[in-house]
Amino acid sequence: MNMLDSELVVAALRKSGYELTDNPKEADTVLFNTCSVREHAEHKIYSSLGRLKYAKNNNPSKVIGVMGCMAQKDQELIFERAPHVDLIVGTGQLAEIPRLVSEIRDNREPQMAVSLGRKEGSRDEVSGSFQSYDPLRDPEMRTSPFQAFVRIMIGCDKFCTYCVVPSTRGPEQSRKPSEILQEVRVLADQGVREITFLGQTVNSYKHTEDGRLHRLSDLIAMCHEVEGIDRIKFVTSYPKDMTDDLLQAIRDFPKACRYLHVPAQHGDDDVLAKMKRGYTIAEYREMMHRINETIPGCAVSSDFIVGFCGETEEAHQKSLDIIREFRFKNSFIFKYSERPGTKAHSLYPDDIPEEIKKRRNNEMLDLQNAISAEDNAEFIGTTVEVLTEGISKWGRKAAEEVDPEPGQPLATQLTGRTDCDRIVVFDGNPRLAGSLTKVRVHDCTPTTLIGDIVTGEIQHGSSSMLPILG
Ligand code: SAH
Ligand code: SF4
Repeated sequence: MNMLDSELVVAALRKSGYELTDNPKEADTVLFNTCSVREHAEHKIYSSLGRLKYAKNNNPSKVIGVMGCMAQKDQELIFERAPHVDLIVGTGQLAEIPRLVSEIRDNREPQMAVSLGRKEGSRDEVSGSFQSYDPLRDPEMRTSPFQAFVRIMIGCDKFCTYCVVPSTRGPEQSRKPSEILQEVRVLADQGVREITFLGQTVNSYKHTEDGRLHRLSDLIAMCHEVEGIDRIKFVTSYPKDMTDDLLQAIRDFPKACRYLHVPAQHGDDDVLAKMKRGYTIAEYREMMHRINETIPGCAVSSDFIVGFCGETEEAHQKSLDIIREFRFKNSFIFKYSERPGTKAHSLYPDDIPEEIKKRRNNEMLDLQNAISAEDNAEFIGTTVEVLTEGISKWGRKAAEEVDPEPGQPLATQLTGRTDCDRIVVFDGNPRLAGSLTKVRVHDCTPTTLIGDIVTGEIQHGSSSMLPILG
């Protein structure tokens, strides 16, 4: 979500005549896009801001701004902690940035634009104070010219007790289907082959337009028709909203990727209740069963929080148990970070010592890595279809070492992903970027399949666990 916000803000600033520089000393405007989900991310921003103090002293006309979740959450506190900051812009006011920056340049007055807090007005007033901001796209700001994020909703109404997102990104609001379709068409014209719909709980999407209710399954059907688009993905899904129509859409529309990110967060029912996630493990299991029945071979990944308030050793073991049971493709594992303003902060002490959080975190990571390695090994000897993204990190490094003046289309290591979101690296010509390439897998790591380009038909593997490859 933050990558998309940065893309849009840069697009708007470029339109007003700004250019990007990768040298903060040279920059006459420095904007930090921020995350508040964990405390560590905020600390990093405050220390980066601290480092800019001297640059600002040397060049008082430099405009320094903080945008995004931390701006919405901390508001004036940022001016207090970092008085050299000129601009604070919340997630709902990003469209204002070019105007506010030029106002600061003209008047040298600090500016702040934030949305209402969740209790500072009626639902409509609070919702209205968070503008959806997706008018301009800038292909040059994307990590790949062939892939783009498309926000289909903003905000979140789930209020998991540990999470700041419902207050930093405001009430849940779905965008109009016609607007989304138009944006996808524009992206396809720009050469985008893969779109990823974004939402905090993306499968809760609902919008009534022209008297008809549209859900995520309808958006998939609509965007499936757009010529040029080969793949449609979406993140992040909420377990309780994983409806059959959505699973059937993934099954029935070939461009819909067989990959779901549906965070379980924890393996213990009491902890899930305390987190107010709204489901039990039995319900999550039932959802996994429906996914596997409807879309055989579908990859599922998860997020987990370890060391949540009062987490016992037995409860932690249950999180390990569900990693074993559901064999997620991968899991993002986070140590609980207490966030002021959340229910968990006011109701439950953050009582798990850091060393225990660390140890539990490592146990989860080790187990997940072992499972990912075993499952990736099942692909050795099979052929997968990869949307080639471009030269891999390793390939770029090697190219710099071998050829100090890159530019020649030499065969180098390329990277891309399968339909099920598995990362694949293989040697090939960089001109393959943006195309679907068949790769025969001969090796793997827990995170990556390693292979060689093949020509000819995709060969299906013999493993009964993997009836469809990807
Ligand atoms: N909307 C998404 C993602 C929200 S933030 C979802 O509901 O899944 C991304 C992840 O950060 C969450 O899934 C959760 O695992 C983690 N997270 C959120 N708040 C946290 C906190 N206070 N401490 C540690 N991890 C947290
Ligand atoms: Fe946070 Fe829960 Fe909303 Fe995800 S669903 S953004 S974890 S409150």
